[in-house]
Amino acid sequence: MENIDKKVITRFAPSPTGFMHIGNVRTAIYDWACAKKNNGTFILRIEDTDKAREVEGSIEHIIKSLKWLGLNWNEGPDIGGPNAPYKQSERLESYLKYAKILIDKGFAYADPYTEEEVEIMRKKAEEEKRPFLYRDHRPENPPIWDGTKPLRFKVKDIKSYEWDDLVRGHLKAGHEALDDFILIKSDGYPTYNFAHIIDDLEMGVTHILRGDEFIASTPKFLSVYDALEIKRPEFVILPPIMGTDGRKKMGKRDGAKDVLEYQKEGYLPEAMINYLALIGWSPVDEKEIFSPKELIELFDINNIHISGGKYNDEKLDWVNKEHIKRLPSDVLEKYVFEWLPVELQNKKIIPLIVERISKFGDIKIMLEGGELDFFYKDPIYTKDKLIYKTTTPKQTLKNLEEAKGALVMTEESEFTKENIKAILMELSDKLENRGQLLHPMRFAFSGLDKSPDPFILSEILGKSETIHRLDNAISLLNE
Ligand code: GLU
Repeated sequence: MENIDKKVITRFAPSPTGFMHIGNVRTAIYDWACAKKNNGTFILRIEDTDKAREVEGSIEHIIKSLKWLGLNWNEGPDIGGPNAPYKQSERLESYLKYAKILIDKGFAYADPYTEEEVEIMRKKAEEEKRPFLYRDHRPENPPIWDGTKPLRFKVKDIKSYEWDDLVRGHLKAGHEALDDFILIKSDGYPTYNFAHIIDDLEMGVTHILRGDEFIASTPKFLSVYDALEIKRPEFVILPPIMGTDGRKKMGKRDGAKDVLEYQKEGYLPEAMINYLALIGWSPVDEKEIFSPKELIELFDINNIHISGGKYNDEKLDWVNKEHIKRLPSDVLEKYVFEWLPVELQNKKIIPLIVERISKFGDIKIMLEGGELDFFYKDPIYTKDKLIYKTTTPKQTLKNLEEAKGALVMTEESEFTKENIKAILMELSDKLENRGQLLHPMRFAFSGLDKSPDPFILSEILGKSETIHRLDNAISLLNE
């Protein structure tokens, strides 16, 4: 990566206008990975200058989301840092300082017009079929800026801008993108266009990672960097996240939901990081499953994709399942037990659950479907359920009695799924069809049309309960 001689500083700069959706989270992941990879600094900055759009509680929500994911920042509103404060609404003095520099250099002026006056100018431009530009209406003698009027930037150099983006390469935009935009609004707050530049400067940000919706405004940003004679950071445009059909950017209406919803549904934070990192970036070796720590090692801005990546729930579920499989047993137990009633909190049941879920919330569905009831209560079923295809009740009874005889002889300590499988396979191999024995056994244990195999079920139930359930089935067949 470029800039290896200089400390890498990235910032995640959300506006507190609602929850964090996967698009915001992915930007945060890349910012975090980029900083950590280079032993740099990752800053959390809150861009709260649009008071009308602010949603109460969003800052806490953003912090909670990032903490759940484990994307730890080195500087931020909650922990401070050398460039505090980290909320734009508390940094107004900085913006004022640079606004004054721009005024002194002749790069900013107080906008004297009322809304009505602007409306008249706009209408006239429309009638004359030309675009309405503020720069065509610069006041000859602007009033002294006292903060009650918007402060506008004065673009002196109406020219084409060119810049390099670390992902998109060489980019250009014509002068039509330039106009006298607002630096500070009449409410005293700066615009994004101005504030982020000042913050990035003061915080020493070296790499700005953001979405492609910012490309069009880049000439504006460049004109401010030039006016202040400051160095531009590296620009890194991230590819959009497309909806599952790949046609348009994923929005709230297409299911872009609050990242904390994923927590509620029982996804693992490390799986979210893994999956979201892969929408728009891939490691050189195409590795698909990695821990956050491995992501830091693998991450490279040069491998960020140019074109958009599709969001896909099924792939997320697959990645999540892979992470579940890799959890150390004590951690796995903790997660699983959180979703189970006390009577089911038994280690033996864990492998069976893990095999059937892709996120912990699926346990709830298993419970609701009665899939785990067999574990703590005798299944209730009718005789016919025990009979496999064309087998007779008599034959089924004989098979179950034989199996019982063999299992009774098995030592308690030998009652493992492997041993049970060996015993039952030997018996069922003698039959026309294995199902003639394995089906009634499975059913006698679980009472379910779909369930794991009888070997695993009997290991989970243990010897005495297994025999007890076989006895129940035998009595039913004897009726
Ligand atoms: N506050 C901006 C937003 O939430 C951040 C853009 C940037 O990263 O510069 O869209």
